[in-house]
Amino acid sequence: MSAALFTHVERLFPICRSITGPGLRETLDYIGREIPLSRHEVPTGARVLDWEVPEEWAPRGATLSTLGGRKVLDFADSNLHLLQYSLPFDGVVPIAELQRHLHSLPDQPDLIPYRTAYFSRTWGLSLPHRLRETLTDSAYRVRIDASLRPGSLSYGECVLHGEERGEVLVSAHCCHPSLANDNLSGIAVAIEWAKAIAARQRRRFTWRFLFAPGTIGAICWLARNPDARARIRHGVVLACVGDGGPFHWKRTRRGDTATDRIAAHVLRHDDPANALIPFDPWGYDERQYNSPGFDLPVGRLSRALHGQFPEYHTSADNLDLVRPEHLSRSLRVLRAMEAVIEEDAQYRNTQPYGEPQLGRRGLYDATGFDRMALLWVLNGSDGEASLLDIAERAGLPFDEVQKAARAAQAAGLLVPINTAGSA
Ligand code: ZN
Repeated sequence: MSAALFTHVERLFPICRSITGPGLRETLDYIGREIPLSRHEVPTGARVLDWEVPEEWAPRGATLSTLGGRKVLDFADSNLHLLQYSLPFDGVVPIAELQRHLHSLPDQPDLIPYRTAYFSRTWGLSLPHRLRETLTDSAYRVRIDASLRPGSLSYGECVLHGEERGEVLVSAHCCHPSLANDNLSGIAVAIEWAKAIAARQRRRFTWRFLFAPGTIGAICWLARNPDARARIRHGVVLACVGDGGPFHWKRTRRGDTATDRIAAHVLRHDDPANALIPFDPWGYDERQYNSPGFDLPVGRLSRALHGQFPEYHTSADNLDLVRPEHLSRSLRVLRAMEAVIEEDAQYRNTQPYGEPQLGRRGLYDATGFDRMALLWVLNGSDGEASLLDIAERAGLPFDEVQKAARAAQAAGLLVPINTAGSA
């Protein structure tokens, strides 16, 4: 499992993605070979909510050279060297003018920064600050081979239908070039999570995995799904889930949705170092899903927080930062959330007057579940409380209570109460 997760990151890493263009399509092609994916193209100029779909950007190459022909930097070595949405350019540039088009990080002089200029119609190059400091000639040659012209924005959805009407939205942005944690970790985990959900024997909810460029892609999806509010019961944005830090659940705008409660439960039992953070209108696409007009129950799972880890948006967010075991732990936590989302249910104790005699039913010394969990589930199953309610009250993880409930049901001590779509 962890090997498959990391393979996705490795394969996708070299591709120069952006919010539109061939790298984004190549990424969706890859995802579509792993899981069933329906593809959508939204044409340049289309009005989407308050936005407009931009022109399509296709980068092909970029070099900075001395006038003597020595290459200073090459897009072929790192696609971070080219400012995203850079205009094409070919010419000799005096050093003073060149400096206005260069991006570097004086505090992290060995790293190439990831920079975008989606709406500013300029050209630019990124480079390590140490390399920038060696530029002492009076002029350099810049060659940027890229096109910016009408086309379309691409996104993909993997929809796995369930028995009930509600949906679970899982959203991963896929617009960053060679950055591993911020972008590819979420895509890799979403791919394997979708495979696991596709393999479930039954699905209560429809699960919708959305792979779209950040901000504008989520806005395109929302513009085309005006009924999202009525359908979506739970949602998770995945971002930065490949590093080894504790988990952070960023709450939904409402803060107290069923999804928030489930995430809090799972993270608390995974590791006390995990943390819940309040909603703010910043970050990844939770900003769009939680805009007041939609107000969807979509939170975000991250480990490192964007902007707060030193590798963020630099060439150090690479295949050394993301580890297979970190990816698989992220998937494990999400699958624990999935178990509650899909399987939380209410039961009624068939022997509620005094404790039922467990020994006679072979449950007193039975293995495979915790005896306290059994006592809690019998005591808690009054027809109102769900397994999650009981688990929370008992201070036990959901799966322990669920295992005990299965044993009690098999012994005839619990019967399920037929309820639909508690969210
Ligand atoms: Zn980012």
